[in-house]
Amino acid sequence: LESKEEFSHKTLAMDVMRPRRSDPPLSVIVQDGMSVEEVETIIAETSYSGFPVVVSHESQRLVGFVLRRDLIISIDNARQRQEGVVSPSRIFFTEYTPPQPPNSPPPLKLRGIMDLSPFTVTDHTAMDIVVDIFRKLGLRQCLVTHNGRLLGIITKKDILKHMAQMANRDPDSILFN
Ligand code: ADP
Repeated sequence: LESKEEFSHKTLAMDVMRPRRSDPPLSVIVQDGMSVEEVETIIAETSYSGFPVVVSHESQRLVGFVLRRDLIISIDNARQRQEGVVSPSRIFFTEYTPPQPPNSPPPLKLRGIMDLSPFTVTDHTAMDIVVDIFRKLGLRQCLVTHNGRLLGIITKKDILKHMAQMANRDPDSILFN
């Protein structure tokens, strides 16, 4: 992420973030109550390096960020070693785990593997500032919000791809479109 000249001041986080309008929505994990099986399905059906953790699908309030590899390791360990963690077990990223209904399998507490303060910018943040932050903090990804709601994600590769696209384009078409 060396040269940032490719970014005109008009490029904003919303222009680089995923998902695009035509993409499927962001894959997120809800902080309390998803089953082991549901989370395993998300892991199996996507190849993303990580997942934002949110309060609820409705609110899209960001709680943290969890890496795919940490989720896989923790769930595998729990299935193998922890007494009784099975597919219907509930996963909690919250500080406190509510009492489980009688006869339900033990919950799996994963707050410990979550990054509690993932870097975020708003959708209107200028990309030259985002690039600066990536370089200075050595970020791999950054989350994008609007009025506190999670909107998208920008990875280092997304930025590099965007830069390459801008570089290949006819300068006039960038100026006049
Ligand atoms: P990389 O960009 O290094 O390949 P990822 O594999 O995590 O990293 O992401 C691949 C693409 O999917 C990127 O364009 C990224 O913005 C997007 N992405 C990353 N995480 C998610 C997610 N949880 N839900 C939806 N899209 C994501």
